Amino acid sequence: MTMYDLIIIGAGPAGITAGVYAARKRMNFLILTKDVGGQAGWSGDVENYIGYQFISGPELVEKFREHLQKFDVEIREGEPATLIKRENNLIHAQTEQGSYEARTVIVASGRNPRKLGAEGEEQYRNRGVTYCATCDGPLFADKDVAVVGGGNSGFDAVLQLVKIARHIHVVEIAPEIRADSIMVEKARESGIVSIHTSSRVKSFFGDMFLKGIKMEEEGKELDIPVEGAFIEIGSLPVSAIVKDVKTNPYGEIIVDCKCRTNIPGIFAAGDVTDVPAKQIIVACGEGCKALLGAFEYLSTEKSV
Ligand SMILES: Cc1cc2nc3c(=O)[nH]c(=O)nc-3n(C[C@H](O)[C@H](O)[C@H](O)COP(=O)(O)OP(=O)(O)OC[C@H]3O[C@@H](n4cnc5c(N)ncnc54)[C@H](O)[C@@H]3O)c2cc1C
Repeated sequence: MTMYDLIIIGAGPAGITAGVYAARKRMNFLILTKDVGGQAGWSGDVENYIGYQFISGPELVEKFREHLQKFDVEIREGEPATLIKRENNLIHAQTEQGSYEARTVIVASGRNPRKLGAEGEEQYRNRGVTYCATCDGPLFADKDVAVVGGGNSGFDAVLQLVKIARHIHVVEIAPEIRADSIMVEKARESGIVSIHTSSRVKSFFGDMFLKGIKMEEEGKELDIPVEGAFIEIGSLPVSAIVKDVKTNPYGEIIVDCKCRTNIPGIFAAGDVTDVPAKQIIVACGEGCKALLGAFEYLSTEKSV
């Protein structure tokens, strides 16, 4: 079995940055990941990544991929880690396809969308119910759709969908919309967005495919016919794969200023951690810090 200096878990902004830095330091490393790009690829318009006044999420991910591929990097895409643990001074990473060993690991596994938990959500998943407007929005051209969640992620989805869908219902459980007002204004200007506050989705209905949502709005029940429902109610960190790692009450891995976790040799970076500001630029910076932390650990730690 190959013994790596480092295994990077995830290839979103944090993991890719760690990978570029590791390649430039000529480390012997492997990237295990579900996909390349992570949540950055789900964003419609990115207007706050320095160097690009405007770039779409998928375009930015292509730039990241090209940058990483400038180097000879061993990357196993489509092979997510199922367990990471430290044993006998080594870190073991398991996937469904195999097991790998390294002296250090950087966990950059980011976040997964939160489920709503409403009746019919699983039944209509990928049959109308979706968690990614960038990926699935084009399937709903000229159709009526709902976006569940009125925060920034919800309105990011709305602003992508105004160019595609016929009508968009935004369903927000709170009495007020929480998204930035500039996004809400743009959505309203489109003339095809209805906003339902103090509203809750009770269930999804249809036949083979989604036909609508049952809602409770200010105490009254109503059915809204839609063929697509985009769930945008936040996300959960992918941290449970790391055995014995310390997390905060939100499940985010606790790291120090060098991205060290409580387990020697295991570092973490980006949205999976308790570092505030879940942003692409922050994740990239943290990926860099984690790599430099791992590199320092490898050069100074006597026990490995
Ligand atoms: C809709 C939306 C719009 C956004 N818009 C913006 C914006 O305009 N500007 C901005 O700065 N930020 C934006 N963000 C936030 C930004 O995308 C994230 O902060 C950033 O992508 C976090 O990077 P990350 O590398 O930490 O995690 P992620 O991007 O979540 O990447 C995680 C990586 O880990 C992989 N992975 C997951 N589980 C495993 C596993 N078990 N084993 C191995 N690999 C795994 C994933 O496939 C992925 O490659 C947006 C987010 C969303 C959801």
